[in-house]
Amino acid sequence: MSVDTITRGAQWPGLLNPDGSRWHYLDTAATAQKPQVVIDAVTRALGADYATVHRGVYARSADMTLAFEAARRKVAGLVNGDEGEIVFTRGATEAINLVAQTWGQANLKAGDRILLSTLEHHSNIVPWQLLRDRTGVEIDVCPLTEDGRIDLAAAERILTPAHKLVALAHVSNVLGSVLDVAQAVRLARAVGAKILLDGCQAVPRLAVDVKAMDADFYVFSAHKLYGPTGIGALWAKAAILDAMPPWQGGGAMIDRVTFERTTYAPAPQRFEAGTPAIVEAIGFGAAVDFVQAQGLDAIHAHEVALVAKAREALGRMNSVRLFGPEDSAGIVSFAIEGVHPHDLGTILDEEGVAIRAGHHCAQPLMDHLGVPATARASFGIYSDESDIAALVRGIERTKRIFG
Ligand code: PMP
Repeated sequence: MSVDTITRGAQWPGLLNPDGSRWHYLDTAATAQKPQVVIDAVTRALGADYATVHRGVYARSADMTLAFEAARRKVAGLVNGDEGEIVFTRGATEAINLVAQTWGQANLKAGDRILLSTLEHHSNIVPWQLLRDRTGVEIDVCPLTEDGRIDLAAAERILTPAHKLVALAHVSNVLGSVLDVAQAVRLARAVGAKILLDGCQAVPRLAVDVKAMDADFYVFSAHKLYGPTGIGALWAKAAILDAMPPWQGGGAMIDRVTFERTTYAPAPQRFEAGTPAIVEAIGFGAAVDFVQAQGLDAIHAHEVALVAKAREALGRMNSVRLFGPEDSAGIVSFAIEGVHPHDLGTILDEEGVAIRAGHHCAQPLMDHLGVPATARASFGIYSDESDIAALVRGIERTKRIFG
């Protein structure tokens, strides 16, 4: 059976070459192309609807405030959180830095431990190292199973009551492996640790329910979810967020300012200093509407089918090494014997196929795999079998060139 796009007539201007032919875009895990409905929502917000939020006494500003807060509600709904539990950030990276610098700084001390894993994105490593340098907390690293999943049996052996935080990717941006969240949460709870999940690659491809998961922190970026760049979200349990000190100071995050003393607004406003990313938030809300209209179960099934096709096609080619588990979500990393991934990426680009080649901001994982880089094909809602066929043609040509 062929795997067709499932976007039911949605327009994707970013998927067209200048001559109107299809661009075989296989870099959705880096950032997703945008449907016309999101582009239109952003255009309206920046044009006919534009005004500031939260402060204006005129009708346009009041309308914009309603639209901005409606976007927060939509984003909360996507992960089944409450709207007061969503802090808008610049993206997942800023969300993790926020947690490290506020919750981490306030709650962790020398001798406390944090558990990460080998496959984490740099954005879920470096903020904790910065915290380590300031506080003396220790970082432990959970190894992976042979097929590239976070090894939770090993995590169970590593975890102790000194662990105050477990911070793991829900879906790996390199291997596509999906975390057993229920088990990870159980293990964290068993030692009294909080759990942060990096949902950057999960939110665009799996139905996420933070309440059912019983996570403490969940972070994601709009631009991987068919929304704009420059905005993302931190979801955190209300009780945790309420107790967290502010991080950036400025307008909008205060209750009352005097030179002697400032009191702060409640969460989430306490963490949103300055004029927010109004236009981006509205685009984020439009992207959530779009994704929910398609249905995350349908998106997931679509990507599972594409991954199965791609792994089968690449697996048939000798000299291709596939990384990650068979059931990876939307992402396939691979290497071709004797061809550097960057050379492959360049030749594929000539064929109208865009893949990612590099360390994918996961250098410790590259060290673990014993390669400097991998080639990565990642799928989205608009991907179809013609993209896989073009990838295979491009790889065959590359192998001919390299003899
Ligand atoms: N975590 C994962 C798993 C990611 O894939 C990414 C983006 N590549 C990030 C975090 C960081 O997201 P952003 O750059 O949007 O802040």
